[in-house]
Amino acid sequence: MRLILLGPPGAGKGTQAARIGAEFGIPPISTGDMFREAIKLQTELGKKVEKYLSSGELVPDDLVLGIVAERLAQPDTAGGFLLDGFPRTVPQAQALDGYLAEKGQSLTAVIEIAVDPEILVARLSGRRICQNCGAVYHVVTKKEQETGVCDLCRGQLIQREDDYEATVRNRLAVYARQTAPLIQYYHEAGLLMRVDGAKPIADVYREIERGIRNRVEQ
Ligand code: AMP
Repeated sequence: MRLILLGPPGAGKGTQAARIGAEFGIPPISTGDMFREAIKLQTELGKKVEKYLSSGELVPDDLVLGIVAERLAQPDTAGGFLLDGFPRTVPQAQALDGYLAEKGQSLTAVIEIAVDPEILVARLSGRRICQNCGAVYHVVTKKEQETGVCDLCRGQLIQREDDYEATVRNRLAVYARQTAPLIQYYHEAGLLMRVDGAKPIADVYREIERGIRNRVEQ
C-alpha cells in the first residue's frame, strides 16, 4: 500500500499519518520531519535547508528528491509507505511516478485533507511544541497545566519558527501556488480521495480509513 497525504500546512497530516501508519503497518515518511532533524543535527543538508524552513518557502526539488529516494530505498518501505508533505510540486510528483515506475510500482491512493485557510492560521499560530519530547499543545484548544511547561516531561514549550503567523500565511500562499496543482494532477490520475479536515481528528481518521479500505477492495 503506497499512500500520499496531501493538504495545506496544519491540516492534520502528521496526526493522521501516525494513525494510518500504525493501523496499516506502513511507515509514515515526513520530509518536513527529516529536514527538521537534519537542522537539529546541523548536518550539511540541515545547513542548506534551514533558511527555507524558517521562512516557509519550499526546499529546492533536487535536495528533496535526494532524501526521499534514500528513504524509499530503506527495507521498511518494502510493504508500502505513507508520504506526508511530499510531493509538494508537480515536478516532485513526476519524479516520484518515475521512481515507482522503475520499480514496477504505483500509488494506491492520494488522500487530500481539505481545510479552510483561516482555520489553519488559528490552528498553527497557536501551536506550541515541547522542545524536549515533541508533545503538541495549543494556546486555546489544548493548554498546558503550568504555563510554558510540558505536562508530560516538564520540558520547555516553544513556538516553531515556521508557526509564526506571518510565516504561516506565507506557507499557505506557497501551498496554494505550488502544491494545490497536485490536487488536479492526482485527480486526473484517478487517485484522489478528499476528506473534510475541519472535522474532529477521530472523524477525519474514520473517513480516511474507510476510503483506503474501499480502494484496496476495489
Ligand atoms: P512540513 O512539516 O511538511 O510542513 O514541512 C516543513 C517545511 O519543510 C516546509 O515549509 C518546507 O520548507 C520544507 N519541506 C518539507 N517537505 C518538502 C517538500 N516535499 N518540498 C519542499 N520543501 C519541503
